[in-house]
Amino acid sequence: MSTKKLLVALAVGVVLLGAGWARAQSKLTVMTTTEDLAAIAREVGGDRVNVEAIARGYQDPHFVEAKPSFILKLQKADILVLVGKELEIGWLPPLVQQSRNAKIQQGGPGYVDASLHAQILEIPQGQITRAMGDVHPQGNPHYWLDPENGKRIARDLADKFSVAHSGDRAYFEQRLADFNGRLDAAMKRWLDQMAPYKGTKVVTYHRSFPNFAERFGLDIIGYVEPRPGIPPSPQHTLDLMNEMKRQNVKLVLVEPYFDLKTPNAIGRDTGAQVLVMPPSVGGVKEAPDYIKLFDYDINLLIGAIKKAGTQ
Ligand SMILES: [Zn+2]
Repeated sequence: MSTKKLLVALAVGVVLLGAGWARAQSKLTVMTTTEDLAAIAREVGGDRVNVEAIARGYQDPHFVEAKPSFILKLQKADILVLVGKELEIGWLPPLVQQSRNAKIQQGGPGYVDASLHAQILEIPQGQITRAMGDVHPQGNPHYWLDPENGKRIARDLADKFSVAHSGDRAYFEQRLADFNGRLDAAMKRWLDQMAPYKGTKVVTYHRSFPNFAERFGLDIIGYVEPRPGIPPSPQHTLDLMNEMKRQNVKLVLVEPYFDLKTPNAIGRDTGAQVLVMPPSVGGVKEAPDYIKLFDYDINLLIGAIKKAGTQ
């Protein structure tokens, strides 16, 4: 190779490296409160975003330890995506405030409340305050467990990412279309799988699954918690067990972060199976992304329903 050609090759190499560096530098930094939102952000953002979640999928998202290390991460974020409907009210506001990052303060260009475009169930009629101990005062915040809401969240994120990085709009739109296509195909499969079990009666520990139940045809007849966020009481548990026997309910779904003592006692008394079912991506290692979460939960559920049918 001549010296001139070598110099040209080197110059081209430097330019390409520079472009790669600029792209790496210009990635959007996205913080999400939960792993579910992080999973959807990764689907839409691909390699043009760096995404990190604050809460782990095996933690109760209502009660997360506000570690100072998150403040440093929030300082560098371009976008903060939260579930909203007061899910994170016990731990997120001080972190955001102390980050002093104007972009992600409420009302800032990078503050994304994913609930604003989602279908929200159980919106209370009349005045409900947290003083009554209810951690769902603005309606049910576990709305990501309906894949139709997953699509709405993804649409919202594609828009927000495109506003922040308009040069990547076509890329985000293409990623969104691809995700919607895979989710639609999976949804058809899940609905077919669940169709024979429509109307199956269950009890759940916390009110995590109303959107899931409505989409996939479960009938939730009661909860181990007397109210969302309030631990089980002996009288409530007794009433619940009587109701389960009356309606012949054979399944108790428990989120991975609750104590199994009361559910197991209910199971012994009523003959119901106690099934630990993750409501979030990362709740178990078999659910590392949004579509796999539903794959896992639906297979787990159908296995348990079949087992109950043969008892
Ligand atoms: Zn809740």
